[in-house]
Amino acid sequence: IEVSRIRNFSIVAHVDHGKSTLADRLLELTGTIKPGTEHAQVLDQLQVERERGITVKAVTASLNYTYNNEKYLLNLIDTPGHVDFANEVVRSVTACQGVIMLVDANEGVQAQTVAVHSLAKRNNLTIIPTLNKVDLPRADPDKVKAQLNSVFKIDPKSVLSISAKKGWGIQELLEAVICRIPQPSVDSKGYFKAHIIDTWHDKYRGILCLAYIQSGKVQVGQAVKWRSDSKPHVVKFLALLRPNEEPIDEAIAGQVVMVGCGPRGGGSVGDQLLDKELAQNEDAVTVSPVKHMVYAGIFPADQSQHPTLNDSIKKLALNDYAVAVTPDSSPALGQGWRIGFLGLLHLEVFTQRLLQEYKAEAILTAPSVPYKVKLKGAKAIKQYKGEEIIVTNPVHLPDANNIEEYYEPFVIGTIITPVEYIGAVTSLCIDRRGTPLPASAVDDRMTMLQYVLPLSEVVIDFHDTLKSITSGFASFDYQDHGFHPSSLVRMDILINGMLVDELSTIVHTSRLEYNARRLTEKLKEMIPRQMVQVAIQAVVNGKVFARETLKAYRKDVTAKLYGGDVTRRKKLLKQQAEGKKKMRSVANIRIPRDTFIDVLKR
Ligand code: GDP
Ligand code: MG
Repeated sequence: IEVSRIRNFSIVAHVDHGKSTLADRLLELTGTIKPGTEHAQVLDQLQVERERGITVKAVTASLNYTYNNEKYLLNLIDTPGHVDFANEVVRSVTACQGVIMLVDANEGVQAQTVAVHSLAKRNNLTIIPTLNKVDLPRADPDKVKAQLNSVFKIDPKSVLSISAKKGWGIQELLEAVICRIPQPSVDSKGYFKAHIIDTWHDKYRGILCLAYIQSGKVQVGQAVKWRSDSKPHVVKFLALLRPNEEPIDEAIAGQVVMVGCGPRGGGSVGDQLLDKELAQNEDAVTVSPVKHMVYAGIFPADQSQHPTLNDSIKKLALNDYAVAVTPDSSPALGQGWRIGFLGLLHLEVFTQRLLQEYKAEAILTAPSVPYKVKLKGAKAIKQYKGEEIIVTNPVHLPDANNIEEYYEPFVIGTIITPVEYIGAVTSLCIDRRGTPLPASAVDDRMTMLQYVLPLSEVVIDFHDTLKSITSGFASFDYQDHGFHPSSLVRMDILINGMLVDELSTIVHTSRLEYNARRLTEKLKEMIPRQMVQVAIQAVVNGKVFARETLKAYRKDVTAKLYGGDVTRRKKLLKQQAEGKKKMRSVANIRIPRDTFIDVLKR
């Protein structure tokens, strides 16, 4: 194979516009898998992907295809569709020269179409605009071509039409991939150098990597090293993914291959694998760091499971490099971790995978976004080295007296909605503290609205609310807009005068009274009555904003049993004792552990 016969591409689209279905068709056409529905969505390998119908991990498939009597190697890098996984998309585009941008010929341009289009543009990728689902009776290719022209200035003549389901137009599409997308621009003669775009863990072979070869070639047995450390390694495993492994002896620049250096061979996303002769610092590529948008605590259901959970989290974090894991502890929940995620769906998928792939049961605390604060006279406050610090856990917010300025993360939200819902969508965005940007028409029925919104107002239930107020017709996507000054305070909860760390939250001042009332009311409902009266207060800088009182009540589980049945009585007492173990006591008040998890959820 020569580099002029290699094409590396991705399929990008709004969720449900047909990426996985198209990937299956491409694999069939190239003889990689046998036609038939049994192989449905072969690239969606994880259980969670099949269950949720979304793609989480980007997976690769190398396809053979003959065009004009020339053999081509087409590397399809499947990418996830959801906003949370945008950075998996970003990562896979580093190995691509072009994308197939699928748009449902019935639904038309959606918010994520806008997002993936701008991503492809920013990375100078060739875009093959493709309408899918043209078999549907309600498909309207001309209308959608006009939308593509008005939103992206795409020439209608360059738009392909396919049905991934029926297999229409697939051949023409593959030919467009060969003719329109350029060959990889790489240095075939130089020393071997490869960029790691994915890693996963194999029980017997250690860490396996998906690598894009940027220069030179690589063979099994070759001496290599990682850019991140200079220790010598040897390439032990080399394979094409079709998507099943097909071992090969050699791979050249421009290829996307699986490499492994054995159980101690290492490897991580963003690192580079180098020929052993290459100097460590020679033209290193820099990968922009992942931005964590949502943080939550994870704790073992039982402390005895801490080592098992630790092991599982480590393995999963290796495959899902987008998570940030730091140890954390809480009086109520014990030893655990604070984990940074790209978004809420990412958080859900991570915990679901933990459960399904590693059989680890974990408790999850309410998610929060990171905040930033600028400190007064930072040098005087010894424990902080810099001027500005990022606060990922409200407990670690410095004292208000030491803070000069608060910042919260904002995003630019893109909403594409039918015109009749503009009013409802606008009210929702204003209610969520949004500031409008200029709107533009997609066509005479659909409008694109953009708002600058605080991330904290978006991560929890914005998407669900948007869907429900627009009967499911509006789509939403967001991109990071950085930290902006904001008016924030830390709200603490006192139980009979004692501070409960786990229940502190950072809130916008306009939300303070509402949140104070809501949280104290909810706690009153959730804390069981005690032998003494319990005062629940929401406090900011020593000032009480809401207060609830839980009346005293003497609870004796055996009171109704008149002597007689000793075993029943013993059993009840034992149950009560076990129940007590899962309690945290604050100022002699016993609070069920679940309270700490549930009370902060919306
Ligand atoms: P993804 O989220 O982009 O990966 O989308 P999928 O490939 O999972 O497809 C979403 C849904 O659209 C599935 O129910 C597919 O069967 C359906 N679908 C995909 N392509 C076509 C098509 O060309 N025609 C029709 N009628 N349905 C399709
Ligand atoms: Mg899919």
